[in-house]
Amino acid sequence: MNPEARLVLKPGREKSLRHRHPWIFSGAVDRVEGEPAMGDTVTVVARDGAFLARAAYNPQSQIRARAWSFDPAQIVDEAFLKARLQGAIDRRSVMRPGSDALRLVHGESDGLPGLVADRYGDTLVLQILSAGAERWRSLWAPALAQMTGASAAFERSDVEVRTLEGLPPRTGALMGAVPTGVRIVEDGISYEVDVVHGQKTGFYLDQRENRALARTLAAGGDVLNAFCYTGGFSLAALAGGARHVSSMDTSEEALAGARRNVELNGLDVGKAEWVAADVFGQLRKLRDQGKHYSLIVLDPPKFAPTEKHVANAARAYKDINLWAMKLLAPGGHLLTFSCSGAVNADLFHKIVAGAAADARVDLQIRRHLEAGLDHPVSIHFPEGEYLKGLWLQAAA
Ligand code: SAH
Repeated sequence: MNPEARLVLKPGREKSLRHRHPWIFSGAVDRVEGEPAMGDTVTVVARDGAFLARAAYNPQSQIRARAWSFDPAQIVDEAFLKARLQGAIDRRSVMRPGSDALRLVHGESDGLPGLVADRYGDTLVLQILSAGAERWRSLWAPALAQMTGASAAFERSDVEVRTLEGLPPRTGALMGAVPTGVRIVEDGISYEVDVVHGQKTGFYLDQRENRALARTLAAGGDVLNAFCYTGGFSLAALAGGARHVSSMDTSEEALAGARRNVELNGLDVGKAEWVAADVFGQLRKLRDQGKHYSLIVLDPPKFAPTEKHVANAARAYKDINLWAMKLLAPGGHLLTFSCSGAVNADLFHKIVAGAAADARVDLQIRRHLEAGLDHPVSIHFPEGEYLKGLWLQAAA
C-alpha cells in the first residue's frame, strides 16, 4: 500500500468522477505521482489538486483506476471494505423469502468495483475481476462467510475481463471443500447448481423474478424456452402448470443438468422436451412445421461482448425475435432479453420493434423487464444495467 501515490487528471477530465462514476480511463490521467503497485489505493485529484476519489490503481488496464470512495475522509482499509460488504448484505435482507440463492455483491453497483459474490445455500461463489478486488483477495471469503454463516467459498475468476485487467484466470476453493452439485431452492423449485464448471457462477440468478413471471404465464400452455441452460425458465413453466415445455440449448451438459432438475422436483418428465440444437436454425424449422406457442422465452448469451460487436449483435437479436414472433399463438406471450451491456434498453427496444414490423405481428409491451432486486444498479453507473427485457403479448 502506498498512501502517498496520486493520480493527477488532465484538465476537464474530472467531470465523470464528480458525477460519481467509478472508472478512471487511462486517457484521463495526466500523471502518476509516487510508485503505486497494481491494486494499491491511490488518491485521485483534479489538475488543480482538488480531491476527487480514492481508487484502486491498475497500470495494465484501460480502466486505470476504479473508485472505492468519493469521501476525502475515508481511508480504504479492512474496516471500510467490510462495512461495504455488510451494507450490500443488509440491502438484501428483504430479498430472501422463497430462495436460498442470491447475489450478495454486485461489483460497482454495491461500491465494490470488480467484486461479485453469489450465495448458493451455504456455498459462496466469488468472482474477483479487478486489480483492487484482487489486492484485497484474502479478505472477501472469510468476511462474507462470517457475515452470512456460509461454510464454503469457491472462486470463479475465469472470466474474459480478467485478461483486460492484466490478471490471469483463476478458479479453486477459497474456503472449505470444493463443492459439487450445490442444491438451491428458488420459489419452491430445486435446482442443482454446478458452481465449479457451470456458466457464470453456476446459475443465472439475475433472471429469478422473470422466471417467476414465466411461471404465472405458463399455465395450461405450450411453452418454448430457447437458450434454456439448466432449465431455469423450463422448470418455472412446468411448475406453473404448462401443458408442454420444449427447451433448446447447444450445450449437452446444460441439457443434462436441466433434465436432472426436472427429476429432482418430481415434475412430469413427459411434459418436457429437450432439444440439443442451434436456436437460429431450430426456430426456422419449427416455423416450417407450423408450430405455435403460448409462451416463448428468448434469453440468449451476450451477443455483444463489447461496443464493436453491436451491429452484428443487433442482427442476431432481430433474427431470433423475428422468428420467435412468427411462432406465437394468438394472445401468446414473448419474454425476450439481452444481457449485452453494449446494447442499451433503448436500442434493444428498437431492434425488437423492427423484428415485429418485419414479422408482421401486432404486439403490445406488457412490461419492461430487468435483473432481479439482488442486482442493483448504481444511478452513477449505467453500465450496471446490463440485463434488459420485454414482456410482449401478441394480439388475440
Ligand atoms: N435462461 C437461462 C440462461 C441462458 S444462458 C436461465 O435462466 O438459466 C444462454 C444459454 O444459451 C447457454 O446455456 C448457452 O449454452 C446457450 N446457447 C448459446 N448459443 C446458442 C445457440 N446458438 N443455440 C442454442 N443455445 C445456445
